[in-house]
Amino acid sequence: MTMTVSLNSKKDRFADQPNFSEKKDYRPADVKEKGLVFVGHEISDDRTAMNQFLHYDQLYTIRHGWNSKFFIGLLEGKIMGTRCPKCGDSWVPVRSHCWNLDCNLEKTEWVEMPLTAKVHTWTVAGWSGRSSLKRLPIILAYANIGTSKVAMANELHKMNPWDVEFGMPLKIVFKPRDQRVGAVTDFHFEPADFWKPSPMNPEKQRIKDLVMPVYEWVKTLK
Ligand SMILES: [Zn+2]
Repeated sequence: MTMTVSLNSKKDRFADQPNFSEKKDYRPADVKEKGLVFVGHEISDDRTAMNQFLHYDQLYTIRHGWNSKFFIGLLEGKIMGTRCPKCGDSWVPVRSHCWNLDCNLEKTEWVEMPLTAKVHTWTVAGWSGRSSLKRLPIILAYANIGTSKVAMANELHKMNPWDVEFGMPLKIVFKPRDQRVGAVTDFHFEPADFWKPSPMNPEKQRIKDLVMPVYEWVKTLK
């Protein structure tokens, strides 16, 4: 018995390149594609320690493919999620196919989510990379947006770090349109307008005692 295996031509197997009609370049004037560049160093007086400085400004292209609607939504001030037409589960960050075994990898459909969320869990950052040091302490929340079955991470602003609670209601606040770049940093979380913090308790006090020195330290930064 013989079997014949035929390969489709390359043209049949790959979709045509899309045409990109909207293009924006907001690259700062001083960034050049040089790859990894040593831009300086410092050596201690006793010459026992050396620090070197690298500039890593390679240009990267991120192809979002099927997920593109999520990122285009951010430019428009929308949170786009996906939903399974069979079971109704929905997700942000998006899934292209349903996760429930009974749905047999059903393809999901796009849905616009409300700009509301609920805290699933959170952490308070008391240290960060150099670019964010002056904004410390930073609350990083994992929140379920709208009806999403999975949580998404983003910063939680306009509240004390010790007042965050599990399940607390949040709103999603976007940057002004002209500052958006189609990244998750285009938005952040804030407490819902109707939310009020619960009274002080020992656990909240413990967190406050931990973060107050961070506020003091940040004041000393130039
Ligand atoms: Zn499903």
